[in-house]
Amino acid sequence: MDVYRLATIGLAAFRLPLDALAGRWRPSERASEWALGLRFPHEDLSGLDLGARVAFAAARSEALWRHGIVIGLTSGGRSFAEQQRLFDEAVSQYGSESAARQWVLPPAESLHTQGRALDIRPREGARWLETHGHRYGLYRTYANEWWHFEHWPEYIGTSSRPPLRADPRESRPASHRM
Ligand SMILES: [Zn+2]
Repeated sequence: MDVYRLATIGLAAFRLPLDALAGRWRPSERASEWALGLRFPHEDLSGLDLGARVAFAAARSEALWRHGIVIGLTSGGRSFAEQQRLFDEAVSQYGSESAARQWVLPPAESLHTQGRALDIRPREGARWLETHGHRYGLYRTYANEWWHFEHWPEYIGTSSRPPLRADPRESRPASHRM
């Protein structure tokens, strides 16, 4: 049993009546965000756009309260400069731009720079989000990245979803594809 998971659930359960008593909006989400913030103290939610931020909080509140699953954010919104640095690092690591694109996109093409992509952990949390995330407009979009999800609220309530691509190389517009 994961002691951190149990501690997070325990802390959230401790906090919930306090938020409810104070009449705060969405007390169960507030309590789970508070407990998850203690569990993942380095996560930075500030770069996410408002829609993605709200969807993520609602989804992981349900994961925690309903199924005892903890979900943390490894990386969310990124500045252009940050994404460029990651891309440059990947190019030198993998030897070419096309090889780097298998894992990282340049800033203009990445949804991380729009605040709409979320890299999450742990694997168990990603599995939960893959099953339940569609109700929040959160979808896994690359087969080679179990951790990468994107916020596409326009698909909520429809029977379709954004395509699950093999890897980020497939994200390029067709006109750019050789
Ligand atoms: Zn990502």
